[in-house]
Amino acid sequence: MSLFRERLAASLEARRVEHLYRHRRILGSSQGPLVRLGDRELLNFCSNDYLGLAAHPKLVAALQQGARDYGVGSGASHLVCGHSRAHQQLEEALADYTGRPRALLFGSGFAANTATLSVLLQPGDTVLQDRLNHASLLDGGLHSGARLSRFPHNDLDTLERKLARLSGPALVAVDGVFSMDGDVAPLAPLAELCQRHDAWLMVDDAHGFGVLGQRGAGSLEAAGLGCGEVPVLMATLGKALGCSGAFVAGGEELVEALIQFARSYVYSTAMPPALAVAGLAALALLREEAWRREHLQHLVARFRRGAEQLGLPLADVGGPIQPLLIGDAGRAVAFSEALRERGVLVGAIRPPTVPVGTARLRITLTAGHSEQQVDQLLAALEQAGVTRHAA
Ligand SMILES: *Cc1c(COP(=O)(O)O)cnc(C)c1O
Repeated sequence: MSLFRERLAASLEARRVEHLYRHRRILGSSQGPLVRLGDRELLNFCSNDYLGLAAHPKLVAALQQGARDYGVGSGASHLVCGHSRAHQQLEEALADYTGRPRALLFGSGFAANTATLSVLLQPGDTVLQDRLNHASLLDGGLHSGARLSRFPHNDLDTLERKLARLSGPALVAVDGVFSMDGDVAPLAPLAELCQRHDAWLMVDDAHGFGVLGQRGAGSLEAAGLGCGEVPVLMATLGKALGCSGAFVAGGEELVEALIQFARSYVYSTAMPPALAVAGLAALALLREEAWRREHLQHLVARFRRGAEQLGLPLADVGGPIQPLLIGDAGRAVAFSEALRERGVLVGAIRPPTVPVGTARLRITLTAGHSEQQVDQLLAALEQAGVTRHAA
């Protein structure tokens, strides 16, 4: 039967024609401000390693020590015999760091989001989501059996109207920092709105944890919100923490229910314990090295000043994700390639990751970059002809 092959070939061809085809680049080095691609060394402005920890010697040493103590594989799911002391310690440290009663580790943020939504929601419930939420929140909502209702980006008036019309249980889920736009959700008014309508609020802080807040505890710390206002927090370990995996933090019942009922938790092998040891080392660096967040903010300000002067199509956002709106997908890819020729790696983000007509260059800065490297990026953007008229 060739039906499946023909169907796959047709969808691949359609993707190619629309300039939406994705290619993987093969890196020959660790993450960092400089990465090796084939025989070239490129300035890297597309990783989510915001604090520059992914290849930090202390994390590497922790991973090695963890492998000596616990081996490589965890051997089983957390409920069978895969839950090590390292996992337990990291969960306790994450609960403490986020100021929540409990935290639970997952192998990925994608699994954590889908698991949480599927355990919390039932048919008859409604889950309300920002249109620009991460795919894993949207998929989790779709698969949960609840009614999925999306509201325009950061539009609290529409959300309020939707909440006012509901009678059954409602969960509102948002990204703390939107991954492709870099802006922050209006968390304090959202929390207030949810409390007024007796809805639970869930925040996916994949891009805020480690970066925002005085201690780097994330967008909830920055907004001054605790477990009472935001009962469900999900954050990942693979971005600012430079590791891999994710966690959900919240109250006793939430975490116990996830342990009992979350299928992607129960039926999945626990992350390698050595990775949990590395996670503990990353958390220690988060606590001890506030300079990383300060340096990152300094670089963001420098980039924005320079981009403003060059007339680049900047978005009004203050964090390490600095998208330049291009519009057309083909044009975004052409700019990304022109930058690569000039030694700079910046991803072209296209539909369906972002809405049609809003393809962009997604520039990310990290604490590992220097001022000089940011200036090199600005020079390359100018030479590649990315101007205010790009969109
Ligand atoms: C990256 C990301 C995830 C998924 O986390 P992984 O650990 O990479 O699976 C979830 N939500 C958001 C907003 C993300 O950016």
